[in-house]
Amino acid sequence: MQVIKTIQAMKERSSQARGEGEVIVLVPTMGFFHEGHLSLMREGRKLGDLLVVSLFVNPTQFGPNEDFKNYPRDFERDSKMAEAVGTDVLFAPGADEMYPPDHQTHVRVEKVTRTLCGQSRPTHFQGVATVVLMLFEIVMPHVAIFGEKDYQQLVTIRQMVRDLHMSVEVMGLPTVREADGLAMSSRNTYLLPEERKAARSLYRSLQRAKELLQKGEQRASRILDEMNGILQSEPLVRRDYVQICDARTLQEVDRIEGDVVIALAAYLGKTRLIDNLVYLKPLT
Ligand code: AMP
Repeated sequence: MQVIKTIQAMKERSSQARGEGEVIVLVPTMGFFHEGHLSLMREGRKLGDLLVVSLFVNPTQFGPNEDFKNYPRDFERDSKMAEAVGTDVLFAPGADEMYPPDHQTHVRVEKVTRTLCGQSRPTHFQGVATVVLMLFEIVMPHVAIFGEKDYQQLVTIRQMVRDLHMSVEVMGLPTVREADGLAMSSRNTYLLPEERKAARSLYRSLQRAKELLQKGEQRASRILDEMNGILQSEPLVRRDYVQICDARTLQEVDRIEGDVVIALAAYLGKTRLIDNLVYLKPLT
């Protein structure tokens, strides 16, 4: 596996691959890998000739009081893990190269970033869209793979690619979970043992929502009441939001008639976790 740290060298590597007719697949990440990241890389390995994993803890997607400084980082461990699943290039640029002092251009995707996490993280998706656009420009992938774990991020990137007529295929893959259902996340490492236990209620509440939907419940308020009840029964869980939204527009729905995403965010101590469940309307 080749480690590339400069934008220039990455562009040259990708231009060469394109010149040779190779399919380039990009998996953008912020590192501290777990099975969720590895599942995206393994799929990328199958799809592409050149598999590029980017590792960049992007400062602009963190709010002023968020965990940018403390975000877990372990380059050696990540390099080994990426190499073990067959990554060709680990692209790890420096923040000063991605954002030189004169940087002043940002990408803002409008409607889909206003609900859900956009409420409590008003600048987050602008940071995400900007860095992903940069990565697409530098790596020139044919395919880019993201996780459904960050569902709003996936919808935002799809919207950006459509709106800006970009030539990259965006792929979303299912959330990888721990044995007890907790969605894998680099931030799970922050959890104290008691918080880790209480965090199971996030997935439990989503499972309950799924059961109700499968029984035919269509009133969002009924489902949300039950989910809130489950979350409130854990004193260590502080809810940020629980919402049921149209799976494509991310606008909140009162009645469930089409495909929806049930999404939540909650604090356990200082750690903010998100999770979701996509419910596709059964074909009749
Ligand atoms: P991150 O490093 O957290 O920015 O995540 C990098 C990519 O991995 C994003 O596309 C995430 O959606 C995806 N990802 C993170 N956690 C999971 C998970 N548990 N299952 C599947 N994909 C994930």
